[in-house]
Amino acid sequence: MSGITKQPLSVLLQRRLVLLIAGVGITILIMSIVLAIALANNAASTRTASNKPSHSTNAKTVVTGQGSWHTDGSQILDANNQPVRITGINWSGFETSTYSPHGLSSRNYKAMLDQIKSLGYNTLRLPYSNQLFNPGSIPNGIDFSINPDLQGLTGLQIMDKIIGYASQIGLHVILDQHRPSASAQSALWYTAAYPESRWISDWQMLANRYKNNPMVIGADLHNEPNTPACWGCGNPKLDWRLAAERAGNAILAVNPNWLIFVEGVNCYQPGTPCYWWGGNLQGVARYPVQLNVAHRLVYSVHDYTPDVQDQPWFHASNYPDNLPVLWDSYWGYIYKQGIAPVLVGEFGTTLQTNKDKQWLASLVNYLGTGAGGINWTYWGWSPDSVDTGGILNSDWTTVNQARQASLTPIMFPLGVKVSVVEPTTTGNKPTPTSPSAKTPTPLSHGHGALQVYYKVGNPGAVSANQVMPQLELFNTGSASINLSDVTIRYWYTLDRQQAESYWCDYAVVGCNNITSKFVSLPAQRAQANAYLEISFLNGAGILGPGNNTGQMQIRFNKNDWSNFNQADDYSYDGSLTTFAPKTKVTVYYKGILVWGSEPA
Ligand code: CA
Repeated sequence: MSGITKQPLSVLLQRRLVLLIAGVGITILIMSIVLAIALANNAASTRTASNKPSHSTNAKTVVTGQGSWHTDGSQILDANNQPVRITGINWSGFETSTYSPHGLSSRNYKAMLDQIKSLGYNTLRLPYSNQLFNPGSIPNGIDFSINPDLQGLTGLQIMDKIIGYASQIGLHVILDQHRPSASAQSALWYTAAYPESRWISDWQMLANRYKNNPMVIGADLHNEPNTPACWGCGNPKLDWRLAAERAGNAILAVNPNWLIFVEGVNCYQPGTPCYWWGGNLQGVARYPVQLNVAHRLVYSVHDYTPDVQDQPWFHASNYPDNLPVLWDSYWGYIYKQGIAPVLVGEFGTTLQTNKDKQWLASLVNYLGTGAGGINWTYWGWSPDSVDTGGILNSDWTTVNQARQASLTPIMFPLGVKVSVVEPTTTGNKPTPTSPSAKTPTPLSHGHGALQVYYKVGNPGAVSANQVMPQLELFNTGSASINLSDVTIRYWYTLDRQQAESYWCDYAVVGCNNITSKFVSLPAQRAQANAYLEISFLNGAGILGPGNNTGQMQIRFNKNDWSNFNQADDYSYDGSLTTFAPKTKVTVYYKGILVWGSEPA
């Protein structure tokens, strides 16, 4: 197709112009389906150290999803660095002239939120308009006899109530500036009536208002930017990437813990095909969004079926097999290359035609299962979105089972208990011994021989706020050894003294069988003034001849998350992206150097 893929305004209006069903006669099912997702708790993989407790064992049990979230490559992590995944739903209404979520003329808001939770969603994406915060914007479309505690409240106060109860029951919240004015979408993030300064000040107000509630995880800066918005063109009035940096940094200045969700545009460069509004992130490869706080950026797109707009790719001879390649090219590459996490912030369909069904099945498959999958929030909850419908049927109570069943396999439960190794922080304590540079001593006969293989866990990040050595220990000798007799040292220059934290993300021998300590050297050596010493507990067992431990994915950070310069780190090698023997990572058997060379 030539030119621009552009949804006609009428379509867009339709999609968001929701018909308020003033359903008076509908009896509310107050009995919300609070069938607890107990399987979440049952599925918890609690790895408890089975060996006798060592003085340095720091296993603790945490609940996934807790605290503020941050990013690491294409993964979102919680405050305990546990992988989390947004699998949520949009609840529209605040962005419209009802100035409140839709359905409250039929249902109690807590019953609705309980139902969302019970269906397995873990996050709510809440669209709003800037007009919501005007004094003249009076919430309406609410039956106060069934929502008595919302009576007399402003839109913002109703938002407090929705967020408050969602937080209480374990639903996280993403706020979405859906449009400046309640009456229509806007291609740009501002209009004459709602200038950029208002867009930013409203965001800062919200970031400040909810900064003490970690269940509110972030800001979707503007919904579906499109032509004349551009990406990378450099015009501050039109370059959405630059605007996203301005707003994102303004938000992070108020609340550095929020995730910043940046949608795409529709058209990237002249002459190249355009895509859904907000769905084209091809510009990220050359013009990435750069925020002042690291590990806060999440890219976001929207993707739909012909329910919203027919598109050329729905007519490809190889449909639906053409879809994954299409998604890769417009946004999936960001996830696949580990550039940043991606949120498919809106997708939805009436699921009426075969094309719809093939599309949804393909997308669900593409999003993947488990913690490592792509984040998503389905559009939407309400049945009054005329182009897509919702998870709720038009009675605002029963569930569209076909749509719900399609999403169930890719839900990700939060609130699961997991066992993790607690960080070992030793500050700047001097090492008890005063090691001098040694050369390896061959293991005495019968003890086998040890080698360590290394690769870098965050290639390309010479300056990084985490050091991520990935290690494998090989026994190339002829006898078995007890791993508890082995220690490994990773040597580096701590550029600025700071307490540090250690994490084990994954280990074949079990993270609960690995422990570590930070040791500062009494005197600077070549490319090292510290090392991380990794040791094994009895539960790690025996390493037989010819065997190896498998991967140990280790990382550590300064507690203020300031960067390490890894260029001067003795053990670091940013070019080693596959495992290779590494003599600058040293190995000790019963305290004796048996592999590698210590720094001079
Ligand atoms: Ca360094």
